[in-house]
Amino acid sequence: MEYEAVVGLEIHCRISSKTKMFCRCSNDIFNEKPNTHICPICTGFPGMLPLMNKEALEKGVRGALALGCNIPEYSKMDRKSYFYPDLPLGYQISQYDLPVSEKGNITIKKEDGTTKDIGVTRLHLENDAGKLTHTAGGSLVDFNRAGTPLVEIVSEPDMRTREEVSLYARQIQKIMRYVGTSDADMEKGQMRFDLNISLRPKGQEEFGIRSEVKNLNSFRSLEKAFDYEFQRQSEILDGGGKVVQETRGWDDNKEITTSQRSKEEAADYRYFPEPDIPPIIITKEMIEEIKKGIPELPEAKVQKYIEMGLSEIDANNIAADSHLAEYFEKAFGISGDAKKTSNWLLSELLGLIKADGLSISDSKLAAENLGKLVKLIVEGAINGKIAKDIFGEIYSNNLDPEKYVEEKGLKVMEDTGELERICQEVIDRNPAIVADYKGGKEKAIGGLVGQIMGATKGSANPKSVNEILRKLLSN
Ligand code: ADP
Ligand code: MG
Ligand code: ZN
Repeated sequence: MEYEAVVGLEIHCRISSKTKMFCRCSNDIFNEKPNTHICPICTGFPGMLPLMNKEALEKGVRGALALGCNIPEYSKMDRKSYFYPDLPLGYQISQYDLPVSEKGNITIKKEDGTTKDIGVTRLHLENDAGKLTHTAGGSLVDFNRAGTPLVEIVSEPDMRTREEVSLYARQIQKIMRYVGTSDADMEKGQMRFDLNISLRPKGQEEFGIRSEVKNLNSFRSLEKAFDYEFQRQSEILDGGGKVVQETRGWDDNKEITTSQRSKEEAADYRYFPEPDIPPIIITKEMIEEIKKGIPELPEAKVQKYIEMGLSEIDANNIAADSHLAEYFEKAFGISGDAKKTSNWLLSELLGLIKADGLSISDSKLAAENLGKLVKLIVEGAINGKIAKDIFGEIYSNNLDPEKYVEEKGLKVMEDTGELERICQEVIDRNPAIVADYKGGKEKAIGGLVGQIMGATKGSANPKSVNEILRKLLSN
């Protein structure tokens, strides 16, 4: 039988705040000596009160906004009880029914060029547990990680292939880093995945029974676990069996998943509201404030630029560099023509900047002046050829193109009476060329056009010159 996978991911990212979620211990714990970043709060001494870390909360909300999530005004923390030696409080402080955000989505771009939206069910806040190390002499516990802040990002079961799973996970990492919610460095244990995967016969609507592979800590193991589970579950189904809903672990050496506990044995977390932490209230004003700190994501910029009329390649080139994007948007604000602005920016301006060994952020020419130059071209006040001729000087001295063109008299000659007079003069001076043209040599007219462009210092519109000449010569 041919099967299709259905996958939802739960992704944990360590929030990059200075201190832990509910105490003042440092959150910078990588490679630190065990149990050197702990206090009575994160190790759960009786009578200690946790206090919500504002930086961690704001960074969490920032990440949620970047995933397009709604931020309800009211949310709260809950206790999720379970007993394990690395969990000193006997419960994790997490969010159950009222998370800090919900209903977002992100777009992934596939190898074949198509895109797909993956729903984000929620992003919520929680704290991490400590870490156990098992040795021959016994198990050791390090509480440095206990109480460090996490965002958990739960997806809808929207992924169907390994490629989609991998792209979604990478995109989440990119977004968390871009907006500064998490460094999401997997080498440092700052990002982990739980893979929920079920199979269904191709064409069937209804989802199959899933297994959940916990704590995958690299993209590679995520992809390998997908392959392994796809194979394992297909074999069970082909053999007429049923997949058991269960939690499985990943063995990085053997590259297999192993059963940890089935649904029947699942822990009863006894969720209830955390009584020691007041509800989280996030007002519209706070959201606006947090939004101000979020840069527009490159993908959003690319989309916007394409809608403005840029080619996909140009849009990607500009959006990839935030300085270039800023310059482009400023110049476009003045010129009003996205395509021409990007052409001038990417070929003419960057050409000169690179020749000077500089980069866009130290461009001699202000974005406003590039915008003004393009505007003159768009309005037909100067032609492209003149614009190119004068660009070097404008660039080197950061000149205002409007003033420059005015002073040098380079504006396109709009007075057709004057232009006709010049055309007639040139015709009168060149009887030989006129004879050639009238004798059937169409191309001879070029000689006249050249002289007229010279006489007008290039300010005439060659198309108008051609039309006037043909009219005069047909008499
Ligand atoms: P739990 O609380 O047991 O972890 P959730 O309903 O919160 O269960 O789902 C956890 C993850 O599993 C989500 O990412 C969700 O999209 C995914 N999921 C739910 N049902 C399925 C299924 N049948 N196959 C694959 N993934 C699923
Ligand atoms: Mg789960
Ligand atoms: Zn502490």
